[in-house]
Amino acid sequence: MVDSHVRGVQVKENIKFTPSLSEQRHKFVLDFVRKHKPQKIPCSLKTSLSSFLRKVADLGCANCKLLWRLKYHESIEVLAGLDIDENILTRNIYRLHTGAGDYLDPRERPLTITLYHGSVVEKDPCLLGFDLITCIELIEHLEAKELSQFPEVIFGFFSPTTVIISTPNSEFNPLFSGKTLFRHPDHKFEWDRTQFQSWALDAARHYGYSVEFTGLGEPPPGAEAVGFCTQIGVFVKTIPNTVKSLHDEKTIECAHTTVGTVIYPSLKEEKYLRKAVSNEVFSQILKMKRVLLESLKMKNDNDNSDELEFVKPKCDESKNDPTEEIPKPFCIENVFYVPLERLFSFPKIKHLCGDLETLKMLIANEVMLSSDGSSVMINTVDEEDCDLSDNDGDDLRFV
Ligand code: SAH
Repeated sequence: MVDSHVRGVQVKENIKFTPSLSEQRHKFVLDFVRKHKPQKIPCSLKTSLSSFLRKVADLGCANCKLLWRLKYHESIEVLAGLDIDENILTRNIYRLHTGAGDYLDPRERPLTITLYHGSVVEKDPCLLGFDLITCIELIEHLEAKELSQFPEVIFGFFSPTTVIISTPNSEFNPLFSGKTLFRHPDHKFEWDRTQFQSWALDAARHYGYSVEFTGLGEPPPGAEAVGFCTQIGVFVKTIPNTVKSLHDEKTIECAHTTVGTVIYPSLKEEKYLRKAVSNEVFSQILKMKRVLLESLKMKNDNDNSDELEFVKPKCDESKNDPTEEIPKPFCIENVFYVPLERLFSFPKIKHLCGDLETLKMLIANEVMLSSDGSSVMINTVDEEDCDLSDNDGDDLRFV
């Protein structure tokens, strides 16, 4: 039946996809996660699907590449990977380790990644309460008995909000040159679209999910009837879990062993938030100081008199400038004062701190504050390019 659609198409060399089908499958998951960011959806429109994906698990995670790609998504706070092959996990966990960049520029939200060794058909409470579970090219590796247990464990027990399952579409196989029974020696079966869709619809109906089908890897012109090379089912839970059912299931014993856990630094931890705020504060102060010094230098170059005055801006923008009301930095003798209110007006600092009191608390140990606590004080004679000591004690202000 399938062959008759395909017969007319000459396949000269093995079909190759660019990017590779494996990358396309991962991108499909990443796009799905990206689509379900919280801030873009008004609360009034929220459904079970539009709630954002905070906890994501990849079952049959193999070389951990999908997890590695997912860890860059700010909305995810918990990532879990499971595979029956312990070696592949220990060999690839390095992909998930933290690097210097994670400490220099910490995430806003916390992230914990855990790899588990075990079988997808074992009920383990560590995979309860997830927003998304992905099974990318996994089910075709399961023996008949495991496949029969799979829906009860995934949809019935783990019962995540969403599930993405991908598997080869066997109707596409005749288009590959050098025929073998299956695409991979470990595959126990490969389904056509009817087989996959009827299995998926049965599982969805039984466990209270809806399912939509799609795919990746277009067939070549003339062979459109075979469908995509990879078939995908996206399941969305239609009946929410009760708190009680989740609680009861947590008493079940663990079946999986933990291969490793990686905890990422985040701005939710005060020490990293303090550092991020201080870095931003110092960087803004240095910029302001540079502007002040340039303004002084220009004036001095144009004026032979010893008196120092600030150069006024070329055009008067003050009428339209909303920051005009905010106290400006100023210099008294060798000390450069930057009002906290001014620092707080920088969007990044405001975003990190939330309010002025938090800004003050976070930088209190990193900078010197004026006696009334309203400004950061920087001694300009410490740095040769910032020496304002020749200003004869004038009170210098930004204008
Ligand atoms: N998801 C991966 C590739 C999957 S290959 C990707 O996107 O690239 C299938 C993986 O499933 C293999 O790593 C295999 O070890 C694992 N696997 C097979 N049977 C399993 C089972 N019962 N439980 C958990 N993992 C299993």
